[in-house]
Amino acid sequence: MPRDKTAVVTGAGRGIGASIAQALAREGARVVIVDIDPDQAERLSATIREAGGKAFAQTADVRDAQQVKSVFDATVEKYGSVDILVNNAGITRDALLLRMKDEDWDAVLNINLKGAFLCTREGAKIMSKGRYGRIVNISSVVGQMGNAGQANYCASKAGLIGLTRSNARELARRNITVNAVAPGFIVTDMTDVLPEKIKEELTSQIPLGKLGQTEDVTQAVLFLASQKAGYITGQVLAVNGGMYM
Ligand code: NAP
Repeated sequence: MPRDKTAVVTGAGRGIGASIAQALAREGARVVIVDIDPDQAERLSATIREAGGKAFAQTADVRDAQQVKSVFDATVEKYGSVDILVNNAGITRDALLLRMKDEDWDAVLNINLKGAFLCTREGAKIMSKGRYGRIVNISSVVGQMGNAGQANYCASKAGLIGLTRSNARELARRNITVNAVAPGFIVTDMTDVLPEKIKEELTSQIPLGKLGQTEDVTQAVLFLASQKAGYITGQVLAVNGGMYM
């Protein structure tokens, strides 16, 4: 388990990222809460500290290379290392292909995919020095199967799988594993906006008959971030209730 390890979790202010950050802290990791929203990041980091965990907040837009570098510099200054990186920050800007705006394409690709690349580039430099690392990228079931109205999002999440496998090959010799978790439909603010009818239709396509919870994704991430998963790299772990297999 990640006791005495330092974990950087992006988009950790709420939703799945917040659940992952809290769980890592409960397991004894020092956690850096990275979010674009300073209040959310600060609030979660205070909650973790009040519960006896170690955490500090860093405000950053993962699209911005300079801000990303500052996060990793501050982490090394405070905690001395980076052992775990969870690339979780992600957004949707849904539209049918023919109506999709350039800015919606760019925003989704830049946050979901380029953001993970920038964080991995910085994180891997530090992990390489320590000859240890666990990188977990949060992809999505729709990156594997596609989804009408989400060309930008699906491309970014499929891209993350390619990034995962390439980085896994490149970083393996430094004892850094890189894996992806591909959640199905999970109950969060991101899916709360879906109309009831769509949720019912989605549920009917899930063999386990229900949407997932943030905790379901968190448990998969905890495993891949742990020492126990040391011989697993370049893999995509689906947490989707059997929706895609
Ligand atoms: P969420 O509730 O919308 O949380 C996303 C977090 O990322 C928010 O705290 C958000 O900050 C932050 N963020 C957004 N843009 C950012 C940026 N440029 N830099 C840094 N942080 C940024 O989403 P979620 O449902 O927890 O999803 C988390 C991850 O799981 C995403 O990558 C998502 O694509 C993936 N996923 C989710 C589902 C699902 O069903 N929920 C399924 C598959 C995959 P703000 O609050 O300020 O926006």
